[in-house]
Amino acid sequence: MTRRKTPTVWVGSVPIGSEHPVVVQSMTNTPTADVEATVAQIRELVLAGSELVRLTVNTEAAARAVPEIKARLRDAGIEVPLVGDFHFNGHLLLRKYPETAQALDKYRINPGTVGAGRQQDPNFRTMIEVALEFNKPVRIGVNWGSLDQGLLREIMDQNARRPNPKSAHEVLLETIVESAVRSAELAEAYGLPHDRIILSAKVSHAPDLWAVYRALARRVDYPLHLGLTEAGMGAQGIVASTAGLAVLLSEGIGDTIRVSLTPEPGTSRAREVEVAKLILQSLGLRRFAPSVTACPGCGRTTSTFFQELAQTVQQHLERRMLEWKARYPGVENLKVAVMGCVVNGPGESKHADVGISLPGTGEAPRAPVYVDGRLYKTLQGPRIAEEFMEILEAYVAQRFGRAQPARD
Ligand code: SF4
Repeated sequence: MTRRKTPTVWVGSVPIGSEHPVVVQSMTNTPTADVEATVAQIRELVLAGSELVRLTVNTEAAARAVPEIKARLRDAGIEVPLVGDFHFNGHLLLRKYPETAQALDKYRINPGTVGAGRQQDPNFRTMIEVALEFNKPVRIGVNWGSLDQGLLREIMDQNARRPNPKSAHEVLLETIVESAVRSAELAEAYGLPHDRIILSAKVSHAPDLWAVYRALARRVDYPLHLGLTEAGMGAQGIVASTAGLAVLLSEGIGDTIRVSLTPEPGTSRAREVEVAKLILQSLGLRRFAPSVTACPGCGRTTSTFFQELAQTVQQHLERRMLEWKARYPGVENLKVAVMGCVVNGPGESKHADVGISLPGTGEAPRAPVYVDGRLYKTLQGPRIAEEFMEILEAYVAQRFGRAQPARD
């Protein structure tokens, strides 16, 4: 798919725009003032693959904590760009804490919470001036939950005078787009270079997201940050985010993404990063990890052995990736197949780099393994899983280890 053309915006060391891979973002949910907890969570998010991390800067204590967070991350060898999320008092905090303004790699400004009435423009201008002073990019992030009410009234009034007025919902979506575009124009009028602006306009429902982002993509060429706001929990949040993001990404719209999952109690915040990576990998836009093709199983698979093997292979790959990535460049392109019977098993296994076709009901208890499309070995007995993993390990070392320099 062809990506929509944009300028490149540098956020710290990460380039964002159409010439670069779509970037995975996440956001912490620890109190930013709690340096220890926030550093630990950023570490977890980065280990999961987050390439930018946003954190709220909502109080003086949070603002004071940011340089310390940055320093501790650097000491731990973590160089991820940090994005400050500002609402209501961003103009005050950025002016009062220049070290925070310097430590952050991007400021997120919400035009709906920057200030009301006559304070709106001066507050917004202050934040843009700080961005200019410290040479930082900004994301102008509109959210329908905190939409600029003055602008909404203005566009509602204009709509009422139209011969065929639009529905209130259509006007709402139009205002979201208008707020983002006008704020970007204002930022440029205050001197911020064109290639230091990223836009987002988040809503809660996928069809609204498509409408808003298609309109933005028609009107401006800034890089766009995609995400559903308040996507929800568990499967609902994952499916809603996937539906919302995948359609736009497949149209070439979107340069950075975040999946805003509400974490289920006791689950890791890093789940949102894993889902974002899976969306990009499923669309063929990025490759982060080897893919495992597994059939869903059916009445031809009578035991749970097939499901267990598929899970074991998946977990083995996840466990080994940290080491493999360091030792075997390109290993994320590995394709593995775990199939349940002779119907599609051999065919699908031949399409993979390494594939195994397990015996279904009534089939001889043998599991042929295919490597690079050819029958490599037939496994049987109680060690099928272990032997398959050994074949996988040997394949990875042999194929992806070739480029490694010789060791002493
Ligand atoms: S490959 Fe065999 S076991 Fe798997 S879904 Fe197809 S028919 Fe069922």
